[in-house]
Amino acid sequence: MKIKSSDFIISAVGEKQYPKDDLPEFALAGRSNVGKSSLINTIVNRKKLARTSQQPGKTQTLNFYLINEDLYLVDVPGYGYAKVSKKQRAKFGEMIQDYLETRADLKGLVLLVDARHDPTNDDINMYNYALMLDIPILVVATKMDKLKKMEASQIEQKIGKSLDLNHEQVSFLPFSSVTKLNVDKFWDWIEANM
Ligand code: GDP
Repeated sequence: MKIKSSDFIISAVGEKQYPKDDLPEFALAGRSNVGKSSLINTIVNRKKLARTSQQPGKTQTLNFYLINEDLYLVDVPGYGYAKVSKKQRAKFGEMIQDYLETRADLKGLVLLVDARHDPTNDDINMYNYALMLDIPILVVATKMDKLKKMEASQIEQKIGKSLDLNHEQVSFLPFSSVTKLNVDKFWDWIEANM
């Protein structure tokens, strides 16, 4: 898919603020620092559409980005940051859940995990929750440029030990914002699910 335009539309805290034009939406979720902002910037070929290295836990909003006037990417707050209070964490969960469970325009969920580490309990919980939503899931292993060739070739098996990737609704994609690995394949998955 050729990216002709990408625009930040709104930081929403609730349903009333979500876009009303009924375009297909794809949510992006992952632990704080997993590389989600970097991925967004990389796939739209912009330096600062999404803000990178924000203070973890600070992004408490759903950020909507309109792509080519055709679809929305929805940046979901990063989860699993230890210094965020339990109360705050519960609040994130509530907002994310409200959105993910009720949004009719939601066509798929991109779950980012760090290729360098085993998925955490938070990753596993989020993944199992996503499976329950019964929508297409793309598991993206970020920061692939940090792996040695041998590790890189086995990344799907490694992640697969923690997240059972053998579901019809699930696809897997290694990714790097540094080398731009698989940017095209990312968009192929989006297009296939629009
Ligand atoms: P976010 O909190 O998930 O939005 O994560 P960011 O996009 O802000 O990235 C967190 C840190 O990881 C930053 O220091 C990035 O430069 C770094 N990072 C993100 N993506 C990659 C990548 O593909 N490769 C490498 N080597 N570093 C990355």
